[in-house]
Amino acid sequence: MENTNCIICNNNKFNLYATFNIYNKKFTLVDCLECRFIYLNPRIKEIDISKFYGNNYQPFQNKISFTNILYSLFRKINFLFKYRIINKYVNEGKTLDIGSGDNFFSNSMKSKGWKSYSYDKFYNSISNTKSLSSLNSNSFKCITLWHSIEHMYDINDVFKNINNLLNEDGYLFIACPNLNSSEVDILNENWIAYDIPRHLYHFSFKTMDKFLRKHNIKIVDIRNLKMDTLYNVFMSKNINILKKIYVYLRSMLIQFFDKKKSSTIIYVCKLK
Ligand SMILES: [Zn+2]
Repeated sequence: MENTNCIICNNNKFNLYATFNIYNKKFTLVDCLECRFIYLNPRIKEIDISKFYGNNYQPFQNKISFTNILYSLFRKINFLFKYRIINKYVNEGKTLDIGSGDNFFSNSMKSKGWKSYSYDKFYNSISNTKSLSSLNSNSFKCITLWHSIEHMYDINDVFKNINNLLNEDGYLFIACPNLNSSEVDILNENWIAYDIPRHLYHFSFKTMDKFLRKHNIKIVDIRNLKMDTLYNVFMSKNINILKKIYVYLRSMLIQFFDKKKSSTIIYVCKLK
């Protein structure tokens, strides 16, 4: 385990936010006293984290089971939602997916006729780009981070690269779980998107805005991924089905009126 400073303000003073007992280990989320960012501290060292992306990690399961078939169906529908959002802002040029995992998104973009690049530090052998610094400056009209930002040990380096790679007319799309989503108030520590110890950071709209400003990036719009509410609520443990149905309907209603309370926020961003 290692201690870390806040990735936004570099402060090392914090309050305890929540405690979890997972894999017979105690993990704590802390609340930065300077900027109120919530993050995992201490955390598993990067060199050891691959043990936690084993056979039980949903995005990398390839067995045939009901949950996996459902997950794969979710991914296909989510791709269409993401694609529709991207197309509202940008519809030509090169695209780069960072934290691309098994290349599902990148390959789907290729099938839609885009020149598509993928980069993943953990799954580098699968990505078609081996390092972000090897790519040409200002060359991407579209950069995407789908549920990858919360896993990145080198998040500030990645964003320095994004700042260099994104074209001045280009758009950056970031999707990540929202700590301020309405379902967290009810699900508490059962909220599946805490995903400890893999999720290192728990952004809200406010803390994401602070983090992006630091990298000279501005949020121009926010969207939500409604399918993620279904996944987050129904995959949460220790909650009975009637309560899940109630939490799901409540969450859908609240995020309809206030996107900053969505389960997953998609931040649509540009360079400042
Ligand atoms: Zn801070």
